[in-house]
Amino acid sequence: MTLLKSWDRVLADVQSRTEYQNYVTAWESKIRSMLTFDLNRDRFGAQDGPLANIPFAVKDNIAVRDFNLTCGSRILENLVSPYTATAVERLQAAGARVVGKTNLDEFGMGSSTDNSALAQTNNPWNVNAVPGGSSGGSAAAVAAGLVPFALGSDTGGSVRQPAAFCGCFGLKPTYGTVSRFGLVAYASSLEVIGVLSRGVDTLETVYDIIAGRDDRDQSSVARPQNSPARGTARVGILRQIAELSPAIDAAYRETIEKVKSLGVEIVEIDIPALEYVVPAYYTIATAEASANLARYTGIRYGHRTSDDSSMEQMVAASRNEGFGDEVKLRILLGTYVLRSGFQDQYYIRAQKIRTAIRNGFDAAFGQVDLMLTPVFPTQAFLRGEGELTPFQQKLADKFTAAANLAGIPALTVPIGVTDGLPTAMQLLAPDFAEHRMFDFARRMGVDMAAMTPDGFDEGWRK
Ligand code: GLN
Repeated sequence: MTLLKSWDRVLADVQSRTEYQNYVTAWESKIRSMLTFDLNRDRFGAQDGPLANIPFAVKDNIAVRDFNLTCGSRILENLVSPYTATAVERLQAAGARVVGKTNLDEFGMGSSTDNSALAQTNNPWNVNAVPGGSSGGSAAAVAAGLVPFALGSDTGGSVRQPAAFCGCFGLKPTYGTVSRFGLVAYASSLEVIGVLSRGVDTLETVYDIIAGRDDRDQSSVARPQNSPARGTARVGILRQIAELSPAIDAAYRETIEKVKSLGVEIVEIDIPALEYVVPAYYTIATAEASANLARYTGIRYGHRTSDDSSMEQMVAASRNEGFGDEVKLRILLGTYVLRSGFQDQYYIRAQKIRTAIRNGFDAAFGQVDLMLTPVFPTQAFLRGEGELTPFQQKLADKFTAAANLAGIPALTVPIGVTDGLPTAMQLLAPDFAEHRMFDFARRMGVDMAAMTPDGFDEGWRK
């Protein structure tokens, strides 16, 4: 709680508030991350509590009453949310204040935030690089020091990959431990609200506040009375890891040596089903997306076309005008894999692979306490020439999406900086063993002073 306390002191002081607002404004123009940003905007934060006056940012697919809820989409560009997500409400009850909504790939579909229909977000380490995605706005805001933590959502890696690209910690909790009430659905069986921050202690504090059963989300679960042991004696690595960029490969090897130097045994693990993570993930995610996004008809809320010659035409045109290309592609893919007569071939088969992946992790966690893998095969990529194609970006989800298919928790841990951009690794744990990952990340002793982008200024926090 140390970091949070120092923010508390600063923000109690009016002069610091102005300095803070100026700092945010200066960064905003550089990274162009935020859709709104105002310290005094949140009228619902409690006066006191463990997070009193602590500012935080919220990915713009998570509802906050009286704030926009655009999902980075034209179809919801003018929507103002009439209600607040449970996770946000719990933070507000602890005294924290929402200071802004952050940019994302439209409806969470992407790995760069460039699929946002509304704004571009730059990486604070290099404004020509993407911040990752889909929670790229939240990652950029945390990395630039605008907020001590931010909420994101993780369906296939959308918290962990931008955290890796921007050099912060990113937690994808166990499926169901954080209520999805107020999270706009993309692929409901895979996704969970997660946290990004520059410190493990902050991450842990925030997770402990937002986690827990919520009657408004029937898939939410209480954490077990007897939480899993926190210690780590053995860490698993995958027997086969191919196609890492030189910087990520070096960081991976360096991390393995580091783990060994902590007196922790490294065990090679084989999970053959992991070869099929990407096709299984994109089959299930698009199938669920095609159903979840059927609600945007232009009838009850969101963009409505002026072409109202018939009801059918009105719905079709509203959707055509409102959705971007990536969203349309995924709705088409989803309806394709679900069409009658073909479900056995795609959707059912993907579900079987999903079960095999889950079983593979269950077996692995019989032998090791945590798993260690890369987060993404490359560092943040540059816009333009260096850019990965949309297809390459999807293939690169193999390390992150595995945890969503299995429902297990995972954590991005920053490792270092190579060629001016962060590197990171991923820890994976059995269900409900978040705190084991936090403790191990602390043991790894990340040097956050080194993980600070140019222009990051704590000077205003006197
Ligand atoms: N890159 C993945 C996708 O495009 C991750 C998305 C997410 O976690 N929301 O689906």
